[in-house]
Amino acid sequence: MTNKAEKVYAILDSTFPDAHCELVFRNNFELLCAVALSAQTTDKRVNMVTPILFSKYPDVKSLSEADVEDVEAIISPVGLYHHKAINLISMSKELCLYFNGVVPDKKSDLVKLSGVGNKTANVVMAEAFGIPAFAVDTHVSRVSKRLGFTKDIDDVSTVERKLCRAFKRDRWIRSHHLFIFFGRYICKAKSPDCNNCPLQAYCRMKKRP
Ligand code: SF4
Repeated sequence: MTNKAEKVYAILDSTFPDAHCELVFRNNFELLCAVALSAQTTDKRVNMVTPILFSKYPDVKSLSEADVEDVEAIISPVGLYHHKAINLISMSKELCLYFNGVVPDKKSDLVKLSGVGNKTANVVMAEAFGIPAFAVDTHVSRVSKRLGFTKDIDDVSTVERKLCRAFKRDRWIRSHHLFIFFGRYICKAKSPDCNNCPLQAYCRMKKRP
């Protein structure tokens, strides 16, 4: 772990002692669905639709047999609902067919599921199984660039690789949560709260908004 990463981690750790995954779920399947639904929307919005979705389709089998239009109607507030509904149903079918209805704990298996990309797989590995992973979403990417852990031109996989190198493996999961909380509540995309930022000394933005 680099010296700078140690210091940034310590500051964020004391700023956000309660940093955690804000998606609401009761089991690994619900987590997988919630993370898949969270693409390009907020956790708050996902948490609005998942109780309705899971009360109607409480398990893998029932969701695998769901009618796509019905799922679309339930999840419409999260956006991209047509693709997300198709993917949720296909993913459930694949879980039944190839994994006995159980969410796998290997990244190579997770990314084979419909609608499951690298970020979703990382979140599921970390949250469901406690396997170290540094999931990179829009907050993690932005914050890592502003703090100079990565470059503006770096793509998501480069950001993930650089962060995994900068932070100790056993801190990847917690660092991911800390970066998200920092990005969500202080270093916001459009109007970062620079006056109250505990990481000003590490910020590389020349002119703070
Ligand atoms: S000073 Fe502003 S832009 Fe820089 S890290 Fe802090 S909140 Fe983000």
